[in-house]
Amino acid sequence: MEEPLPPQSTGNLSDYPREYREFTWHTIEWEFDWCRGGPYNVAAEAVDRHARQRPDKVAIHSVRASGEVQSLTFADVSRSSSKFADGLSRLGVRKGDRVFVYLDRRSELFISIIGIAKMGAVACPLFSALGPEAVKDRLLDGAPSAIITSPYLYERISSVLKEASPAPLVVCVGEGCPANAVPYPQLIGSGSPDFVTVSMRPDEPYIIHYTSGSTGKPKGVMLPHRAMLQQLAGAKYVADLREDDVLWCTADPGWVTGTSMGIFGPWYLGSTIVSFEGRFDARAWYSLIDRFKVSVWFTAPTALRMLMRAGDEVAREFDLTSLRHICSAGEPLNPHVVRWGMEVLKRRIHDNWWQTETGAPCIANFPCMPIKPGSMGKALPGVVAAVVDENGLELPPGKEGFLALRPGWPSMMVGIWNNVTRYREYFYIPGWYSSGDQAYRDEDGYFWFLGRADDVIKTSGERLGPFEVESALIEHPAVAESAVVGKPDELRGEIVKAFIVLRQGIAPSDRLKEEITNFVRVRLAYYAYPREIEFVEALPKTRSGKIMRRVLKAKEGGHETGDLSMLED
Ligand code: ATP
Ligand code: MG
Repeated sequence: MEEPLPPQSTGNLSDYPREYREFTWHTIEWEFDWCRGGPYNVAAEAVDRHARQRPDKVAIHSVRASGEVQSLTFADVSRSSSKFADGLSRLGVRKGDRVFVYLDRRSELFISIIGIAKMGAVACPLFSALGPEAVKDRLLDGAPSAIITSPYLYERISSVLKEASPAPLVVCVGEGCPANAVPYPQLIGSGSPDFVTVSMRPDEPYIIHYTSGSTGKPKGVMLPHRAMLQQLAGAKYVADLREDDVLWCTADPGWVTGTSMGIFGPWYLGSTIVSFEGRFDARAWYSLIDRFKVSVWFTAPTALRMLMRAGDEVAREFDLTSLRHICSAGEPLNPHVVRWGMEVLKRRIHDNWWQTETGAPCIANFPCMPIKPGSMGKALPGVVAAVVDENGLELPPGKEGFLALRPGWPSMMVGIWNNVTRYREYFYIPGWYSSGDQAYRDEDGYFWFLGRADDVIKTSGERLGPFEVESALIEHPAVAESAVVGKPDELRGEIVKAFIVLRQGIAPSDRLKEEITNFVRVRLAYYAYPREIEFVEALPKTRSGKIMRRVLKAKEGGHETGDLSMLED
């Protein structure tokens, strides 16, 4: 194993072992306003409290795709979301109703989510890149009373909307509102800024996030208001945020990272967030960090690999010295990317593991700890994580098994919408919540990700996670990205097959295949090198940017690919 990266700063969490030992969730409670008699509601804590204490502080710099910037203060967001909540209540939307938000990343998206939570309804944000089929599945499943959208997105789903019964109320943001919809300015105009925020029970949901669909049909995960405890802990300890930081989370609010760490976590602390409506573009991304002096950056491995692919000279065109802390979540982070971060961004990249179902980070690399590149880090204080067998027995260090959590962490989902059976399946291992991922823990307590249980390859009698093979492959200078799957084989059960995207300007050839094979062969266990390599233009990914190995695997095994509504174009 390579050298760990030494701690970069002590940060908000200075002594991990002590903090982990002594931490109780009660210690975080006093940071919330409800302790002093305020309503129990995520919106009150994220926005209204700051609107009283620091009304003129910028809550969000919302950058449109055109480059135009709208900066809103906490007072602005508080007032608009109250009017939104009141307007929607007047139109008959009630506490507990689902309200879909299908919008591009513009300020109205953020105001809507806060407004919906304020009235005790359940926000269901949908990434605006979703196509009509994906929206249809969710509409029929979620049965919303209202949908907040824009004219061009409305057009995309108008035929789908006809199938929903009863038809949801449509609110449209932007010019060209269709006749049967309520224009957003009218909704806001009709509402009172004095709307009284509804006080909720801690276990009542404020949001439903549909999962990424990497392994199958997306599930509607319900997260409760009490998730605020762990989202605040995640913002403080994992993102190392302080009030005067500027945070940019690159995940869309349609995904859990985009709300838990992109909106609520930072807003509980009163930090300013940046949002960018545009698509990925290396220069646009770096310039955003430079322009808004982003100090904490929350992103994902796919994005980091794309930045690497764009070339280091692009990074050098910008002043990135404002960055103090970088986080990555959502997929395994290859050691190579961590090293690139040190070289080009001059910062450690802190990998952290969680799921839609966990609602907030659960395992992370903290600033006060050495980073072992390739490891996800250690459990968040207050969270019990373990590697167990199917009977729930904890496995010794180095032994591979199921990554599990002790139920009861505050941001744990309270259900899968419309699917009690699916919810119960997460608890099939006695005493544990089972994540569906495979991992091991080392002697020092660091967790190492092997793969999703379904992606683990069984070859020549050995079990092999795709991640270590993919990480070895991208060390090769010609390889930009790779996905590794098991291909059925009579002799070995499965053989390792690698799909590879080459770096720009590199031509595929059989010689290159051989060279890559030899390159990784010496770096991996004897059974782990790919016996087959296929060069491809792109890898199948979900719309949240995750590699869909099951699609490649199905192709190799000649079986059904399953639900493809989440496949990127
Ligand atoms: P679906 O459940 O619909 O198949 P999904 O699991 O990709 O989709 P998410 O809840 O967005 O949907 O993602 C959680 C999963 O992402 C984890 O179970 C794990 O497989 C992967 N993941 C998240 N963070 C990390 C990380 N730091 N390292 C490795 N894998 C990670
Ligand atoms: Mg999942």
